[in-house]
Amino acid sequence: MDACGAGRSATPVDDHVARILAAVEPLPAVAVPVLDALDLTLAEDVRAAVALPTFDNSAMDGYAVHWHDVADARSDAPIHLPVVGAIEAGAAALSELVPGTAIKIMTGAPVPPGATAVVPYEWTDRGAQEVLIHQAPREGANIRSRGEDVEVGDLLVEAGTVLGPRQIGLLAAVGQARVSARPRPRVVILSTGSELCEPGHPLGPGQIYESNSYMLAAAARAAGASAYRASSVSDDPDAFLERLTDQLVRADIVVTSGGVSQGDFDVVKAALSGLGTVWFGDVAMQPGKPQGFGTVGDDSTPVFTLPGNPVSAYLSFQLFVLPAIRTMQGKARASMPQRTARCTKGFTSAAGKRQFVRGSYDAALVAPVGGHGSHLLGDLAASNALIVVPEDVTEVAAGDSVQVMLLDVDF
Ligand code: AMP
Ligand code: MG
Repeated sequence: MDACGAGRSATPVDDHVARILAAVEPLPAVAVPVLDALDLTLAEDVRAAVALPTFDNSAMDGYAVHWHDVADARSDAPIHLPVVGAIEAGAAALSELVPGTAIKIMTGAPVPPGATAVVPYEWTDRGAQEVLIHQAPREGANIRSRGEDVEVGDLLVEAGTVLGPRQIGLLAAVGQARVSARPRPRVVILSTGSELCEPGHPLGPGQIYESNSYMLAAAARAAGASAYRASSVSDDPDAFLERLTDQLVRADIVVTSGGVSQGDFDVVKAALSGLGTVWFGDVAMQPGKPQGFGTVGDDSTPVFTLPGNPVSAYLSFQLFVLPAIRTMQGKARASMPQRTARCTKGFTSAAGKRQFVRGSYDAALVAPVGGHGSHLLGDLAASNALIVVPEDVTEVAAGDSVQVMLLDVDF
């Protein structure tokens, strides 16, 4: 293993994921206005408090009739009925429809007791006092029956469902103003590095633009979290600890970037090692080897200390932070799924580490994109997949079957 370059005690990727998942749990559910529950996970089963349709109602604008009164209507032998009233949508209690009469009725209006069909306008002369019906409906035609869609007590949406527009429509239709759902995890991103300059300002000598916190906050939002960027700090452990402490109160998760390697100014490691609650070490992966994870503060807030190289930071987010966010959201599947693809071009991979190669995926074919360097942000932005090369594979040939993780696909 050492000869392969994985380091003396590198933690396997899956073990690091397991360590993280053991430390996080679903956030407590809150009552959320039904529209705001879009993309949230429902925390309890919802059953129908009312039937759908809620009462027998008309599917057409037309005339409510006793079906047997009009069963013989034909164009050459139309049937006359007196029109004894009109019912609009929203009309309250109705009296019985007297046989031999018709009532004008609008779409969605309650069907009067006794009526057994609605004749659409198009089959009549649209008369106001008296109507001429020239075509016979089926018995029961154009009446939407109470409960034909949903009965009172039916299980409508199960706990654990991620609510989309259709579920939200259904919940509103049965009168739910609020639902019990898992809130969006609040993720705070804190970048470190004395070389960092905020976009929008001129770069000084030796400076680079701070991009990780933007990328990571965007990734957290794309995952359904509420993400905030804390302003970045220089490589000063005291300043870092102070900024981190400030942020803990508003965070369910803190993600830091940079300062976890072996350098002289590895601020995150220096500041958090002393607390004794954050594990720092190597994970057997490439890119993204130096990692840290633990809990900090009174609320034992999970803190992920990601490496600063942009590709490493992004990959670490997808592999480690995303499953934690999804667990807090109460989602059933924490980690990104993998699928099989055919690789269109060969490449080599280091032994003893799980390699994640940026790729361009389309229709079950994947091509590696760019080089292996963890600073190659342009290549990362040009890719839409990661090719996952197992620890024991050192060479992938063109035409080989590989596992890929699709980066822009929800799961
Ligand atoms: P570090 O992990 O702090 O040693 O950083 C590794 C590399 O990533 C260095 O080249 C840093 O300049 C770069 N880097 C660190 N943080 C950021 C950031 N927030 N945005 C862009 N690049 C960064
Ligand atoms: Mg740094």
